[in-house]
Amino acid sequence: MLPGARVFAVADGMGGHAAGDVASRLATEMLRRAFARAPSSRIRSAALARRLIEAIDAANRAILEHAAQHRECTGMGTTLTVLAPLAAADQCVIAHVGDSRAYRVREGELRQLTCDHTWVQQQVDAGMLTPAEARHHPLSSVLSRVLGTPEMGPADTIVADVRPGDRFLLCSDGLTTMLDDDTLRAILREELPLDQCARTLVDAANRNGGIDNITVLLLAAAA
Ligand code: CA
Repeated sequence: MLPGARVFAVADGMGGHAAGDVASRLATEMLRRAFARAPSSRIRSAALARRLIEAIDAANRAILEHAAQHRECTGMGTTLTVLAPLAAADQCVIAHVGDSRAYRVREGELRQLTCDHTWVQQQVDAGMLTPAEARHHPLSSVLSRVLGTPEMGPADTIVADVRPGDRFLLCSDGLTTMLDDDTLRAILREELPLDQCARTLVDAANRNGGIDNITVLLLAAAA
């Protein structure tokens, strides 16, 4: 990962006309501001998680305020999935709201670290749908939590350990609705250079239909 980098984020905006872009830009801008001052190098994962939750909450309020003041932005929203490495480099904290995912790839094994905030995922958790049914459900893109709503609630946070050579993928649902985990794993385990790997993922998703915008952010822990 980039030395000194504080946060990495994917935001997938939604809303008519350009409003989705406004929401996702506001979210990343608020995050950038919240981390303009680097956390102490001694910060622990719990404190970093709290800082991420606060930053995402502030981003949510900024989006709601902007929407209230600009009629063309009514109803805009965005997902936000953030990865913040700890200075000790053997852990990172991931915070998210929405259905943009974070995965870790370690020695060819792919692990989804986030749990989608979608209606179908709630049905899966409740035993009402299988993951396969959820994937092809007509309501699969309906979000249960998203920035831009007063009832968003605190972001989910996950502390993940980081080993040399691990790769982390942050991506919008435009990637994961087009590529299943087997395909993702097959591409990621080739261990191509990061930019080439990201390009291969986007190309594969586009070949499978590419019906939604695709955002891919790939990070590698120094080997
Ligand atoms: Ca999307």
